[in-house]
Amino acid sequence: MLNEWKNARRIVVKIGSSLLTDADTGRLKRDWLATLVEDIAELRAQGHEVVLVSSGAVARGRRILGLEPGVLKLEQAQASAAVGQIGLAHAYQDLFEERGLVTAQILLTLGDTEERRRYLNARNTIEALLSLGSVPVVNENDCVATNEIRYGDNDRLAARVASMISADCLVVLSDVDGLYTAPPSEQEDAERIEVVDEITPEIEGMAGDVTGGGPSRGGMITKVAAAKIAVASGTHMIIASGQVSHPLKALSEGANHTLFRAHSDPVTAWKSWIAGSLEPKGKIIIDAGAVDALSSGNSLLPAGVIGVDGDFDRGDAIIIMSQNGDELGRGLSTYAKDDAELIMGRQSSEISDILGFEGRACIVHRDDMVLSTR
Ligand code: GLU
Repeated sequence: MLNEWKNARRIVVKIGSSLLTDADTGRLKRDWLATLVEDIAELRAQGHEVVLVSSGAVARGRRILGLEPGVLKLEQAQASAAVGQIGLAHAYQDLFEERGLVTAQILLTLGDTEERRRYLNARNTIEALLSLGSVPVVNENDCVATNEIRYGDNDRLAARVASMISADCLVVLSDVDGLYTAPPSEQEDAERIEVVDEITPEIEGMAGDVTGGGPSRGGMITKVAAAKIAVASGTHMIIASGQVSHPLKALSEGANHTLFRAHSDPVTAWKSWIAGSLEPKGKIIIDAGAVDALSSGNSLLPAGVIGVDGDFDRGDAIIIMSQNGDELGRGLSTYAKDDAELIMGRQSSEISDILGFEGRACIVHRDDMVLSTR
């Protein structure tokens, strides 16, 4: 079996509108969805964490509202999403409940994954839901998204979510079973590519044009764009067919697919982004006890902080310094500078009394910290 799939602990599965809704009636394909939910329940039982990114709100809602086929005006699409999303959420709730699982709805707008402070919020919520054993179902919050501020398609939304939560693998279930050298409907001798190790201009060229006409916004172009986001974050991406019952089981049993292989893992990719791409907005100076704690792999607690400098917000990158001015590492601060100053030197249990809200116990979480090798 495909190792990148078999060994993935945290998985994001994306399903498009055309798999979910019947093209003639616009109704949800509940029977198919039930087989997907069964597969997800099986994966959970095996210890995998699964997040579902589901389209279908607009496709479903527009039928209910009786809107004519064709391109929708922005407000019509927003209204359709508002109507369709309720039905989607109900269907997921029922189907997961039947398999003894709790589901949860997360609706994101572009800023939730692009702005670091909000990014941390959305990430923490999904992490909490996963650790509580539920299966979060994510969609774009289409009823407030406008053309300028939207992901635009759920392929890229899924890749952003996968990157945000450091997923090991993103599976995009589609009406095709992978990336072909040319559109298979146009060229009979088109061949499916099994593994993409590097997304070259040639590979991008194979993605061709966006599919027209169907209810989905994505086509191969958005899938390859999603693959770029995923692999840059250390997440493998697989395109496989969703036009079969039990599509994830089928994948485990060797169904056709294209694998976009990541050459890093999510933790390494995340840490090199923190270390290399972010401009530090401030400094946190720590005492000798905290230096020891960090070198043993612990998070930085307020008790070990003896100074705060600069002007940073929650989620900004900061430099961690020793008392004698050596740079020890970099990380993302879970507190803004003013709050960090108020809680420094204090016990984590005192945070809520000092700040008046229940904050995180650490100032820099070990997952968001890179220590310099000295
Ligand atoms: N978010 C849209 C919906 O739920 C779908 C976007 C897409 O098809 O990629 O209707």
